Amino acid sequence: MEKNIRTDHVLLEVENLVKYFPVYGGPLSTLQGYVHAVDDVSFSVRQGETFGLVGESGCGKSTLMQTIMRLIPATSGKVTFDGRDLFSLKKRELRDMRREFQIIYQDPFSSLNPRMTIGEIISEPLLVHGIKNADERKKRVLETMEDVGLQSSFYGRYPHEFSGGQRQRVSIARSLILRPKLILCDEPVSALDVSIQSQILNLLKKLGKEYGLTYIFVSHALNVVRYLSDTICVMYLGKIVETGSTAEIFEQPLHPYTKALVSAIPVPDPTYQRNRILLQGDIASPKDPPNGCRFHTRCPYVGERCRQEEPKLADYGNEHKCACFLNEV
Ligand code: SF4
Repeated sequence: MEKNIRTDHVLLEVENLVKYFPVYGGPLSTLQGYVHAVDDVSFSVRQGETFGLVGESGCGKSTLMQTIMRLIPATSGKVTFDGRDLFSLKKRELRDMRREFQIIYQDPFSSLNPRMTIGEIISEPLLVHGIKNADERKKRVLETMEDVGLQSSFYGRYPHEFSGGQRQRVSIARSLILRPKLILCDEPVSALDVSIQSQILNLLKKLGKEYGLTYIFVSHALNVVRYLSDTICVMYLGKIVETGSTAEIFEQPLHPYTKALVSAIPVPDPTYQRNRILLQGDIASPKDPPNGCRFHTRCPYVGERCRQEEPKLADYGNEHKCACFLNEV
């Protein structure tokens, strides 16, 4: 089996990606404005890397994943996967390309068809991609079930007979069956009991090595992202505010929002006193994002410039980037 050794090959490149949703209202259902769900986002993911994307609910993480996958159309921007421009692919080319990148959803209850057996669910992508031989399909499904820790006796059973953790293993098996290069994990453990979460995270880690996978791992929980990720990207209100290696993000966070997230992670030592940074107020509406720095309505260090001018993502060395005026020299 391959190992997921990070290489310099850029597998996925996202450039200036924008996704706005129009908002209609009033008696004539006229255009009232736009929800700025993803606003000028750029990043790249190298082969073998686990790229963690973190931010509060509503910050645009899931919309970003769906836009990259072309499940929803982008407003503008470019996504290149393994050297090919995803947004210029025709329907059939896109379908073929989808063998290479798969998604695992948050909710293993609603993402599995209750009328299909576990074997049918896991083998469906093989059928869609033209593997007609039933014996061959069954063999590959049983091998993959074993890899994700599912007993072969589950093959003919239905999703409702299983726990949340087992269903998520089924989702993982379905995403692996075509041996993709990239898996996008959209909050894959947040709907599970805490005791099950670590089992699934360990499984993803193990499979990453065995299958030589590249992951984009999306979560609202920084400690969950930390466990798997080589690189972490922090999003706030549709924008990237900080990105860097996992060690740099945790040991030297630069952005006030990242600092607040890091300070909120529980430490398993009752004698340790951490200075928790409490953010005031709620995240602003993406329909009406504030001028200047989008975080200024909650930032403890806000200054007049922050209300007028938008900070750009600047590189502070070692590919550690941050968008905040405080770090300017
Ligand atoms: Fe806070 Fe200003 Fe930095 Fe924004 S630019 S995070 S408001 S200090």
